[in-house]
Amino acid sequence: MYKKNQICTVTITDLGAEGEGIGKIDGYPLFVKDALPGDVIEARLTKVKKNFAFARLERILKPSEDRVEAACPYARQCGGCQIMPLSYEKQLRFKEQKVYNNLQRIGGLEPELLDACMEPIIGMDPRDTMCLGDTGNPEAKAVPLRYRNKAQFPFGRDKNGQTICGFYAGRTHTIIPNTDCLLGIQENKQVLEAVLSYMEQCHVKPYEESSQRGLIRHVLIRKGHYSGQIMVCLIINGKSLPKPDVLISKLCDIEGMHSISISSNEKNTNVILGETYETIWGEDTIEDTVFRVEEKDGQWERKEDMGVTFRISPLSFYQVNPVQMERLYSTALSYAGLTGREMVWDLYCGIGTISLFLAKKAARVYGVEIVPQAIRDAKENAERNGLDNVEFYVGKAEEVLPEFYSRMDAGSDMLHPDVIVVDPPRKGCDEACLSTMVKMQPQRIVYVSCDSATLARDVKYLRENGYELNRFRACDMFGNTGHVETVVLLSQQKPDDVIEVEIELDELDLTTAESKATYKEIQEYVLKEYGLKVSNLYISQVKRKCGIQVGENYNLPKSEDSRQPQCPEEKEKAIKDALEHFGMV
Ligand code: SAH
Repeated sequence: MYKKNQICTVTITDLGAEGEGIGKIDGYPLFVKDALPGDVIEARLTKVKKNFAFARLERILKPSEDRVEAACPYARQCGGCQIMPLSYEKQLRFKEQKVYNNLQRIGGLEPELLDACMEPIIGMDPRDTMCLGDTGNPEAKAVPLRYRNKAQFPFGRDKNGQTICGFYAGRTHTIIPNTDCLLGIQENKQVLEAVLSYMEQCHVKPYEESSQRGLIRHVLIRKGHYSGQIMVCLIINGKSLPKPDVLISKLCDIEGMHSISISSNEKNTNVILGETYETIWGEDTIEDTVFRVEEKDGQWERKEDMGVTFRISPLSFYQVNPVQMERLYSTALSYAGLTGREMVWDLYCGIGTISLFLAKKAARVYGVEIVPQAIRDAKENAERNGLDNVEFYVGKAEEVLPEFYSRMDAGSDMLHPDVIVVDPPRKGCDEACLSTMVKMQPQRIVYVSCDSATLARDVKYLRENGYELNRFRACDMFGNTGHVETVVLLSQQKPDDVIEVEIELDELDLTTAESKATYKEIQEYVLKEYGLKVSNLYISQVKRKCGIQVGENYNLPKSEDSRQPQCPEEKEKAIKDALEHFGMV
């Protein structure tokens, strides 16, 4: 029916998981990279399958109303920022929807429950990040840029044999020269130009994948958000650099330079980093601080009393968006509901970022992480912050946890945590890990996830084994890309539990004279009287309609065309009745 290279006219109606446009011709879906919902386009079919096809965007006949001019001229070639030409409001809505849909479709969660538990996505505030100069498009300026504190740039040659560095064009290993990715810090450009100039001066060759010859493979750059300290690590196909002093003197001129190292990787592999590194100038690590932040009136305030300082080596995992990381981890911390008496496990703990945050508020924290170097960093970080109530274990969470469970005396406190926090990589948790978590019967499980599909699969397992979803909130750590982080709170179900939604946010409301009943009381009333589950969002919408003041920041739509679901009529009536019942209207 359809043939490769055929040109079709199609209206894009949806976005796929990676941010690609989806449009249907007579029910037959096309997946078109770079196309956005609302676009009417001409697409060339590139791969035709029985039930769907991939297509290339050839021409936009009528652009979507949500389209903005991409801030970066390389956006399409690079493919790293799949949804850069989408207005930021719509980017956030897309991510919220993606999490919701995965929880519904893969996790099997009922929309009523999801509505009741969902909290509005934590978006980036373009004011927190540096925005471009005038792009000629006011909306493009509002898209958050320069938020990444880490980048890895490949080195190679162009057609004329000139040494270049930049990024790989989408799904290839062809390097597009660009020393100034707009998501990265401005210093990247100076660092890369210094390295290129050193290579020219000292006749140092870039690595060539085809022949596996040449020396410089990648340059990793990282900067401490609060410390301003910059780390540069050259990943090389060899053991040492010729004339390192020339390189060092060039890099040292850059303000903030703190650590220069090399990491040897002589393998023919896509893995970027080597297994070890050697410092050739300055310190082995850079420092950064993570503060607890609190949301108030739509703004996030930093709580200086609760900062944890970290030393970060070139090889350790550290979140790439420091501003959003504080918001995400502070949300996870508030979901954990700690009072100072709790026993907590933090699985997949990395260098202990979340663990140390938890340790400030818990009685004891146990961290588990697979990378030994990260655990070494985690222990050192605990000591430097004077936290002696945290212990770390090296190994796979799915092995360490069951081992503890089978080995320890059943009475041991370690087997009866109050809270388990997990922050696994994209593949999610192994079932052996989940089943042991369930056996340990913590009251709460806080799940931080960078892939809502595997999150949904794991939430399904936990719900089938005695836990219920309480709250969840998406967080945009990676603006302009299709990725989204999510934090979820699950609570152990007692036999007579209905749906328990813990409310902290509505404390904002309780300061107003009009507030007589809490959200929870309203929810319980509506459930009892009408058999309906209603969300905080819906309650706040109805309260607002009835002229009851609600916390300014809480669930207030950000624009006319709100990206939040609106309360259905039936639920609105029920909520109004509850408000009357409690004497609030
Ligand atoms: N919570 C940390 C790290 C999260 S990233 C932070 O915020 O910094 C996920 C971490 O899981 C990585 O450090 C990775 O090395 C680790 N990891 C991957 N597979 C694992 C496994 N099976 N068991 C334990 N840790 C694992």
